[in-house]
Amino acid sequence: MPSNDKNTIRRIIRRKKSGYAIGFTLCLIGLIFLSAVLWKAWPNVSASHDVFSALESYLWTKQFDFGFGIGLKLMHLAIMGAAALFSGIFVLALSRQVFFVSGENVLLKCPYCKNNWKARRAKGFAECPYCRQFVQPAVMRPRYPAA
Ligand SMILES: [Zn+2]
Repeated sequence: MPSNDKNTIRRIIRRKKSGYAIGFTLCLIGLIFLSAVLWKAWPNVSASHDVFSALESYLWTKQFDFGFGIGLKLMHLAIMGAAALFSGIFVLALSRQVFFVSGENVLLKCPYCKNNWKARRAKGFAECPYCRQFVQPAVMRPRYPAA
């Protein structure tokens, strides 16, 4: 293992964390946009026979006024909300993938025989290599290769 492995892993973990933060923020913005649009549109279209086409035509005709003469069609808000939501989900999925690829080394401890062993990452359950019991090991600390 190269000596800068530790820094590389740290950088990946930091990137993963900011990826999660960005992903969650995008999802939140998307959900807020979509629910704001639906909340505004729903009383006007819910009585219609064909809710979806009524909703579509309503979103194309109505504007959301931000004030200062700035207004956006509700449909544009809905599209932006959906785009934010999907890119948020995409970023979350990507961050998750980075997490599995990076495979942080951790030190696990058996709750029965108190022996430690190394694993690529923390697992919910694992077989203890000492007492051969199927246990839920405690995570001691991240363990990096010596520099
Ligand atoms: Zn054990």
